[in-house]
Amino acid sequence: MRVVDLIKSTDKTAFSFEILPPLKGTGIEKLYKTVDTLREFDPKYINITTHRSEYVYKDLGNGLYQRARMRRRPGTVAVAAALQNKYNITTVPHILCSGFTREDTEYVLLDLQFLGITDLLVLRGDKAKHESAFVPEGNGYSHALELEGQINDFNKGLFVDGSPIKVTGTPFSYGVACYPEKHEESPNMEQDIYWLKKKVEAGAEYAVTQMFYDNRKYFEFVERVHKEGINVPIIPGIKPFGKLSQLSMIPKTFKIDLPQELASEAMKCKTDEEARALGVEWCIHQCRELIAYGVPSIHFYTVSAVESVKEVAKVIY
Ligand code: FAD
Repeated sequence: MRVVDLIKSTDKTAFSFEILPPLKGTGIEKLYKTVDTLREFDPKYINITTHRSEYVYKDLGNGLYQRARMRRRPGTVAVAAALQNKYNITTVPHILCSGFTREDTEYVLLDLQFLGITDLLVLRGDKAKHESAFVPEGNGYSHALELEGQINDFNKGLFVDGSPIKVTGTPFSYGVACYPEKHEESPNMEQDIYWLKKKVEAGAEYAVTQMFYDNRKYFEFVERVHKEGINVPIIPGIKPFGKLSQLSMIPKTFKIDLPQELASEAMKCKTDEEARALGVEWCIHQCRELIAYGVPSIHFYTVSAVESVKEVAKVIY
């Protein structure tokens, strides 16, 4: 079932969880344990992130280095398939421009189609760690919008024995990302919403927000995108504040604000456990307010926050 239908399929506010594939060389058992515990909250689907390759350098001596591309967290497709088969749940792999050529993407899409995994989240992806601005991979894409084009055209121009065959359009449906506090590279909110609208016009059926800690930012954003004629569900992406170091890490990494009240309370915390408890309390309040507002569903970022997400879900489920 498509994500937009899944979130409509319940009277309660639907939940979804986003998880990371395990590090290269490790097994999937730990992930199964995580999903086992999160299933209690009846997630309608599970997202699996994708991570671009990074360059690693091997010192060959004499000032010579060998450069190689390495993916630290491969396996998005495999994890999506494993979870779908084990739990009979819709899985939503993230598909990136970053670190992928068009041919890489074609293979990913082929594998997903064979596996019957047809709900995607389409993203540009983060820039490489060693780069100051985003650089597409080989003949890859600069923006999610272009990647949507390849997904929409999947199946077009198929030939068998030299004869064109009838095609039925793309088997995929997908959502995209959006930013209640604007994407860091956008000169202003107007531009960012302009490109969001293009992504929706190209075929995105919903958008999931970057995490935010001030619900007013989400409410204002939703009003604004509606005014611009964007009428797809805007799914709030939520992550409980987790530890003291996040006071500076969250604004720096995600280019979002922490509200004054949350920051002041966090600064009074003496330990990470106190900060985590505050984060859970704040998140419960956020979720209650979002549910009262009538959000289409809530998407939880669970990375390094599974325990907190469970505590929040227990209260609001
Ligand atoms: P785009 O839509 O391409 O937008 C990037 C910037 O370019 C924006 O400023 C936008 O306004 C502008 N823009 C958009 N289209 C055009 C255009 N055609 N021409 C000119 N400007 C344009 N990253 C990962 O690496 N892996 C993940 O699994 C992952 N999952 C995520 C899940 C969610 C829900 C969210 C919100 C983000 C996720 N990210 C992930 C991070 C995301 O990849 C980054 O925020 C990235 O910098 C932007 O991705 P995007 O798809 O929004 O890009």
